[in-house]
Amino acid sequence: MRADVIVLGGGIIGCALAEELSRRGRRVVVLERGAIGAEASTAAAGILAAQMDIPQPGPFFELCQRARALYPQWVRHLERRSGLSVGYHGDGILYLAATAPEEAAMEARAGWQRRLGLRVERWTIREVRRREPAVDGRFRCGWHFPTEAQVDNVRLMQALAVAARKAGVTFRERTAVRRVLVRGGRVAGVATARGRMSAPVVVNCLGSWANMGGAFPVPLPVEPARGQMLAFRGSRGLVRHAVMSERAYVVQRRDGRLLVGSTIERAGFEKTLTLEGMHAILAGLRRMSTALASCCFLEAWAGFRPRTPDDLPILGQTPIEGLYVATGHFRHGILLAPITARVMAGLTTLAEQPSFDLAPFSWKRFLD
Ligand SMILES: Cc1cc2nc3c(=O)[nH]c(=O)nc-3n(C[C@H](O)[C@H](O)[C@H](O)COP(=O)(O)OP(=O)(O)OC[C@H]3O[C@@H](n4cnc5c(N)ncnc54)[C@H](O)[C@@H]3O)c2cc1C
Repeated sequence: MRADVIVLGGGIIGCALAEELSRRGRRVVVLERGAIGAEASTAAAGILAAQMDIPQPGPFFELCQRARALYPQWVRHLERRSGLSVGYHGDGILYLAATAPEEAAMEARAGWQRRLGLRVERWTIREVRRREPAVDGRFRCGWHFPTEAQVDNVRLMQALAVAARKAGVTFRERTAVRRVLVRGGRVAGVATARGRMSAPVVVNCLGSWANMGGAFPVPLPVEPARGQMLAFRGSRGLVRHAVMSERAYVVQRRDGRLLVGSTIERAGFEKTLTLEGMHAILAGLRRMSTALASCCFLEAWAGFRPRTPDDLPILGQTPIEGLYVATGHFRHGILLAPITARVMAGLTTLAEQPSFDLAPFSWKRFLD
């Protein structure tokens, strides 16, 4: 089969891009080493933190705002195409400040965000308890970001895969990419464990594996940042917001499952759960709430966030004609999927330049 575009990696970034390209009339093949969505994209918590988590204004903050603006329509589209509900809801994020420095940092963040016209509310501890009764730990105050949202990223990945197939995307699972083929300065295709495949455009969406063990022709300093997660059974409606603190966060799915995270660790591709990691998460949860601490344990897992040296994604063209990169989304890949798909689809089809400057996200920033 001849493809117009080969997308490397079947995580949320690769699938979102493939779906978008297919809707724009391109023949797209996604090559995935394992199963679609089986890595970071389903390990995540699904918190869409476009404000709460961003310490300063700038290009990354703007990228997150654009992503958040696209989300409701993207979700509606995927739900319609797939017939699946993805558990998107915009009840906001509640950040709990335990110390004076944490409170001051959030005060500063709230200040510049309000000057930009965004909503941030400071809640007294009494208000926190009234609006989020499960929180009974000792905190100084809460910061509510009412326009933030969350999504069930496992269901989102299922919906995305169905929508992509319906749009005409071909998925090749259990197909590991070994090398990118380059001829005369332009991309010619890829070599996989199952043979070669040619296409004039190849997009690297390999997440934490983007540098392909050094085999990718452009240096990509992406490494895995391990995150451990725990799941508990809770009664429905126990937690209303995505509740976050410096030590732990918790979100509740529609079926009552409570997801509690997470660590950020440099442990290579060691997908293990450690006593230290789980203990840190549980200590943070216990500090947040005694009500939650008595919930029944269900399961635990770990995943790899694709991290770059400056924690920003790498988006755009490489010096090899036809070869593109969309990776390094670190803690925000679920949030950034629709904007990444839109920008990269425009670039790779040469149909449109993004309406904002992609230079801060270029691979070139690591050359100095
Ligand atoms: C514990 C945890 C919590 C998180 N919470 C959030 C959150 O609340 N909100 C948020 O926005 N983000 C969150 N993230 C981050 C988010 O999950 C990632 O940024 C996002 O999933 C990255 O998507 P991706 O498609 O780039 O990577 P992945 O989902 O990892 O996909 C990359 C794919 O490439 C495949 N692959 C690798 N090598 C090859 C090869 N040689 N050939 C073919 N295929 C290959 C892999 O098998 C994998 O399926 C979290 C991450 C973790 C781990």
